[in-house]
Amino acid sequence: MKLLEDLVRGGHTRLLIGGDWVAAADGAEIEVLDPSNGDVLTTVASGAPADALNAVTAAAEAGNQWAATAPRERGEILRRAFELMRSRANELAELIVLEMGKALPEASGEVAYAAEFFRWYSEEAVRNEGGVMTSPAGDKRILAIHQPVGVSLLITPWNFPAAMATRKIGPALAAGCTMILKPASDTPLTALALGKLLQEAGVPPGVVNVLPSRRSGEVGAAMLADPRVRKLSFTGSTEVGAQLLHAAADHIVNVSMELGGNAPFLVFEDADVESAVDGAMIAKMRNGGQSCIAANRFFVHAAVADEFSRQFSAAMGAVKTGPGLEPGVELGPMINLAAQTELTELVGVSTGAGSRIAVGGHAPDRPGFFFEPTVLTGVLRDDQILRHEIFGPVAPVVTFESEDEALALANDTPHGLAAYLYTGDLTRGLRVAEAIETGMVGINRGLISDPAAPFGGVKESGLGREGGHQGMAAFLETKYIAAEW
Ligand code: NAP
Repeated sequence: MKLLEDLVRGGHTRLLIGGDWVAAADGAEIEVLDPSNGDVLTTVASGAPADALNAVTAAAEAGNQWAATAPRERGEILRRAFELMRSRANELAELIVLEMGKALPEASGEVAYAAEFFRWYSEEAVRNEGGVMTSPAGDKRILAIHQPVGVSLLITPWNFPAAMATRKIGPALAAGCTMILKPASDTPLTALALGKLLQEAGVPPGVVNVLPSRRSGEVGAAMLADPRVRKLSFTGSTEVGAQLLHAAADHIVNVSMELGGNAPFLVFEDADVESAVDGAMIAKMRNGGQSCIAANRFFVHAAVADEFSRQFSAAMGAVKTGPGLEPGVELGPMINLAAQTELTELVGVSTGAGSRIAVGGHAPDRPGFFFEPTVLTGVLRDDQILRHEIFGPVAPVVTFESEDEALALANDTPHGLAAYLYTGDLTRGLRVAEAIETGMVGINRGLISDPAAPFGGVKESGLGREGGHQGMAAFLETKYIAAEW
């Protein structure tokens, strides 16, 4: 609770605009709930369109100076932000549990992962390389330089309130961009805490503005209608991403889209079943299944399906569920009532279509938005549950007979973010990985996220990549200079 108390006492639950913490223009506030019991934790200011435009002005005014700040200095500020996140890791993790619900070990893992984006981009800030060549005709030199794209609007979801923010703030700062961060209304506290911490790290006023808002559609539209905004980096649902792409079209805003997924998890007959179950537990249960790269469709070869389902159900049934701060808890509540209700409905639709509940299947009778770890077996290929991004601890298992069939099932979705496959034959693993229509594939492992790796999707899962070198490139424009000397 300490960080929460500090935020409230210091007035850091207001909007961060131009280095000042200000109330919303219309005095509106958001109630932040604890999903483990539905209680109100605190209120934070809810930005109005006028506040959003003030934030754009602050970012635009700070732009030239930040772009001209030495890359080494930008890198050192990011490094300090990394150190600050590490030194306050326990408090940040507790804050994430309070507003988002995940279990404390998961929240600690998220803080460590989130901080790594600041470390990685503190190192990348000084590696903005261009190129020089003589033109093929020999008449000139071709110089390519990379410049900051400019004022950036960063919109983030609630499921990883720290990591989804640092994955954008880190590269944007490294590239020399100024920004407005619009966090999800369910989890604004972590974003405000990051804003405070970045101030402490030495980020100048106006470079990072933080604007929680319940009126997300209106503030987003107001900012995208302002020609000073040159970049939109969005992480969230495919539906909202598509709307924002339309809005960004008016001023041809540079966009990065990290959208929804519906990851397949393939287990071939030659896989080590025990390790496939270990991987399945991570790929399914990280963040309680509320992850864009969560495994949602388990395709298992008929020869090992019974064994896999038995071991997987046993592991799922052993997961300790409860409020995220309780010792030993591995699975916290879902983010809100709507999420819990949707899981109940999805399981109902699937069992109605013939699947069987091997374990779990219900929202337990207790306060908060909990859902039992669930495995469904005998799932038919046309079951609607396979068409949904489940976003919870529910795992439908479907059997297959051949590699071609497995691949066709895996690719039968408009999404294309992540995929996982388990096999004892690495040649097969690489062959299938190449043929799978996703931006990321885990071979014989259930955890793929890494700040140094290019994260992103194909098809309706997104545009562009975050993390790695590509993450900073997303905040840079290339300029070609033709020169003679
Ligand atoms: P969401 O409803 O799309 O919301 C994401 C963000 O967009 C929130 O800040 C939300 O604000 C804001 N927003 C909603 N409508 C908007 C609009 N019309 N204009 C501007 N902003 C708007 O998604 P979510 O439920 O928070 O997150 C879950 C989704 O995110 C899942 O589909 C998941 O797969 C995806 N996700 C993708 C990745 C990835 O890297 N590909 C990572 C994490 C999550 P409010 O909260 O105020 O509505």
